[in-house]
Amino acid sequence: MREVLTVQGLSKWFGELEVLRGVDLTVRAGEVVCLVGPSGCGKSTLLRIAAGLETVQGGTVAVAGTPVRGPHPAVGVVFQEPRLMPWLTVAENIALGRRLVPALRAQVAELVVEMGLGDFLDALPKQLSGGMAQRVAIARGLFHHPELLLLDEPFSAVDALTRMRLQEMLLRVVRTRGTTMLLVTHDVDEAVYLADRVVVMSPRPGRIRCEIPVELPHPRSRHSPQLTSLRG
Ligand code: ADP
Ligand code: MG
Repeated sequence: MREVLTVQGLSKWFGELEVLRGVDLTVRAGEVVCLVGPSGCGKSTLLRIAAGLETVQGGTVAVAGTPVRGPHPAVGVVFQEPRLMPWLTVAENIALGRRLVPALRAQVAELVVEMGLGDFLDALPKQLSGGMAQRVAIARGLFHHPELLLLDEPFSAVDALTRMRLQEMLLRVVRTRGTTMLLVTHDVDEAVYLADRVVVMSPRPGRIRCEIPVELPHPRSRHSPQLTSLRG
């Protein structure tokens, strides 16, 4: 399969602090990869580097074969907080402030329905719950059909029930579209539920410890033996 994200020999320092050492990571077209590891091991830093938001001290990062030199239009990013523009409607946030001519508005509306936000196209962010706002952030990340969708702990700020609903929605939407996705989480259950492959990082400095393919019966079960054994 074609490589969508290629990270080779990556090293990253913040001043005297070595955060990443010799990180190699590949995400192929259509794959869902989850990156897990203890707090502070460098997961967010690695994701931000892939998003073109950080400089590096060594190694290479490429998206679809092109070296990453800054934020890339073909890469969608979703953070822990929705980061919506409070003065723009849901539709305008998803369209990234572009003027909503009828054809564009129809595309946004279709995605909004797919994401379970049908009645909120013209709502303002302050009218949304935290879970709904995060749905909007995911819709914004997906709207331009990115080559790669990057998500950094997207569900860790919502309650447990909302989190399960959002996980199910995200999985359905990315599987339907065949979106290539790299999602960071510290929740092993979430990683195994979502991923085709779980990449485990170890800290100080951050390195890839191992990669675990996830082979669960379809549709994915939250109560599978594989999940139980990984939980230890
Ligand atoms: P994780 O997301 O796995 O919890 P991070 O990538 O956020 O870890 O952070 C890895 C390490 O780098 C931590 O020790 C953190 O304190 C440090 N760090 C992250 N961002 C910065 C920054 N902008 N400046 C200095 N140190 C940072
Ligand atoms: Mg983090």
